[in-house]
Amino acid sequence: MTGRHPDINRVLAGTRDPLHALIADDDSGILLTLTALLEQKGHAVSAVGDGAAAVAALSTTDFGLILLDICMPELDGFDTCSTIRQLENGKNVPILMLTGQDDTESVRKAFEAGATDFVAKPINYALMSYRIDYILRAAGVAEELRKSQQRSRHAQRIANLGHIEWDTSRDIKHCSRGILEILKLPEQPGLSGFDDFVAYVHPEDRSRVVAAVEQALFQGSALNLEHRIVRSDGEVRFVLQITEARPNPGVLERMVVTLQDITDRIDIENRMHALAYYDDLTGLPNRSLLIQQLDQLLRGAARYEHSTAVIVFGVDRFDKVVEGLDHQESENLIKLIAERIKNTCRECDLLSRQSTEGAVDAGTGASQLTAKLRNDEYVIVLSAINSLQAASVFLQRLVEQFRHAFTISDRRIYLATSAGISLAPIDGDSSNQLIKFAEIARGFASQEGGGSFRYFKQELNQRVMRKFSLADDLRKALREDRLEVHYQPRIRLADNHLVSVEALCRWKHPEMGSIPPTEFIEIAEEEGLIGELGARVFETACNQLLDWRREFDCDFGISVNLSPDQLLDEEAMRRIFEFVSSSPIDNHLVEFELTESTLLANFDTSLSILNRCVDIGCGLAIDDFGTGYSSLSYLGNLPAKTLKIDKSFIHLIESSMQYTAIVGGIIKLAHSLGLVVVAEGVETALQRTILQQEQCDEIQGGLVGWPMHAQAFASWLDDFQQERSRPEYADNEGGVVRQWHSNYSAR
Ligand code: C2E
Ligand code: MG
Ligand code: MG
Repeated sequence: MTGRHPDINRVLAGTRDPLHALIADDDSGILLTLTALLEQKGHAVSAVGDGAAAVAALSTTDFGLILLDICMPELDGFDTCSTIRQLENGKNVPILMLTGQDDTESVRKAFEAGATDFVAKPINYALMSYRIDYILRAAGVAEELRKSQQRSRHAQRIANLGHIEWDTSRDIKHCSRGILEILKLPEQPGLSGFDDFVAYVHPEDRSRVVAAVEQALFQGSALNLEHRIVRSDGEVRFVLQITEARPNPGVLERMVVTLQDITDRIDIENRMHALAYYDDLTGLPNRSLLIQQLDQLLRGAARYEHSTAVIVFGVDRFDKVVEGLDHQESENLIKLIAERIKNTCRECDLLSRQSTEGAVDAGTGASQLTAKLRNDEYVIVLSAINSLQAASVFLQRLVEQFRHAFTISDRRIYLATSAGISLAPIDGDSSNQLIKFAEIARGFASQEGGGSFRYFKQELNQRVMRKFSLADDLRKALREDRLEVHYQPRIRLADNHLVSVEALCRWKHPEMGSIPPTEFIEIAEEEGLIGELGARVFETACNQLLDWRREFDCDFGISVNLSPDQLLDEEAMRRIFEFVSSSPIDNHLVEFELTESTLLANFDTSLSILNRCVDIGCGLAIDDFGTGYSSLSYLGNLPAKTLKIDKSFIHLIESSMQYTAIVGGIIKLAHSLGLVVVAEGVETALQRTILQQEQCDEIQGGLVGWPMHAQAFASWLDDFQQERSRPEYADNEGGVVRQWHSNYSAR
């Protein structure tokens, strides 16, 4: 008995809790005797003399057993019984009717009226006792069954479950309410047969379902199957069908089909799939799905010896583009970009959006180096290309599409794009590797300006690898304070006066030797180290100047280069301003050098920071003039005092009259804007003479002195001052070419 429900066990053992019984009989003798019998069994009893009183008693009390005499005044036993059966608390109560001996007609009528059992009069009280026990036990079992059915119906409703039983002729033997709810069918006519059920199966799944059911019947096995149904109201739902054929010897063969509505689960699965594999903004496959698709494509391509092009395409400095847009506008722009790319691709091309940063090579630093480019990046895969130039043709078409402006909230936005291409099988055969190579190639293309694209070459990879390893080493060098500052003098042509020295950072790598500043400054910018590096150079240079001023009788200033990232980094600039205000250095001796492209790219932000520099007395120089937009009219609006002409111009003035004229023009224009002009990279006496003729104010370069470390500079300065104080110096001032540098060159 252990497997059964405990209540059933108790019921079958014949033990029942004391109950409240109702007896209705107009014979007071019988009433008394039955009352005594039931009370002896421990039950409470209400005794009434007629049917109407019995019905009235149910309005106040629930009874566990009712004994009804048939012949009673006013309401007889049959009517009383059928009235009680209509009451909520009378539906299931066991009713025992007291009929006349051999009165089969009364027995029939008693059952018709809803009686549970009958006892013939005259009553045999010894048997009556057992009869009552029996009827109570049967009522207990029925009650438990009812509860259990209710529980199972409830559970089925919660689980969206239903079941149908068919016989071999496919006629329905039983159809649960759950099935009707799943199919949204009314109870009448409900489901008539197997074919009727099949009509609700989704047309595309129908043959599969019928075949599977046939097979289950044929093999006598169970089957599990997910398919769609179309409800009576037209809604498509997903169901799990479990069909079991039940060969039952001696009985007709049965088939039981359980259906569970799993639409919610499928919806969640679909949503999870979409989240996991699609970019929610553009609906394009994300990187994970692309890799799966590309892996598959590459396997096929290898079999048929096809070539595949993997293109990484994106908008340059997308973070800057969206800076002026609100969230909604940025999203709209991304959608329009994706749409434009989609329209250029063929159906068979794979297209994916790489929406997250840092998805590649976490840990190697690759993600950080390319993070700036990754904000809006797409991977396009051209399959089975018949020439290696196919990607170029495609990209020319795509770049052409991006020449047209995007319109966002009535604003026209032009975007610069770049792309990198890797080819399978030439460059590799793994999806991750091909995407990474195309990303590397794009990194180089983006440095070349709008609309560029590059094919991957191993050499690019080597450059990137060098960058990664240098990035780590640079971080270490900063930690161990192994960067040095060298100093290069700048003199005034008119009187050979030492105006200032430029602080230039130097890094001697333990294995690779001197790394050019142009290379490690770029890495420092990409790795977010420039704030720290710049501040160190600045502080070292300022302290060094204070030392020299204590040591020598001198009035020259110090010039320090500021990188664009440093200028826009609030924390880095705060550190510089704090140092300036806490150091005893005279602010007028400090000059910041900024390249023109830096100044123009972020004009408004740069302007406010530069105004602050100027407000506290520091000078500002436009560096490398001539290498960028060379827009003097624009730059003239800046609070700069000095313009430094880039060495690439200066080197050409010896050999080209045209360049002499250009440099002369720049000098005149700069003078008209009130700027002091410095020529950079002056190496020869002839260059100096020409510059002097063109009214250039100051020069810097190898002719005067190469950048040198602090100690070497102190000796240089000693010599320089001695030279200046020699008597003949005054006679020749401004006219004689002098060269102090070579002994102190740090080059
Ligand atoms: P820059 O500010 O224009 O510095 C002048 C560059 O010209 C220096 O290159 C210097 O060594 C070089 N030079 C000086 N005289 C001559 C010459 O007669 N002939 C030739 N051919 N070159 C000459 P360097 O030191 O390699 O620095 C390159 C650039 O790196 C600098 O250009 C500057 O933009 C950047 N840089 C250097 N140190 C720092 C720093 O501490 N912070 C920042 N943000 N940038 C720095
Ligand atoms: Mg400079
Ligand atoms: Mg320069």
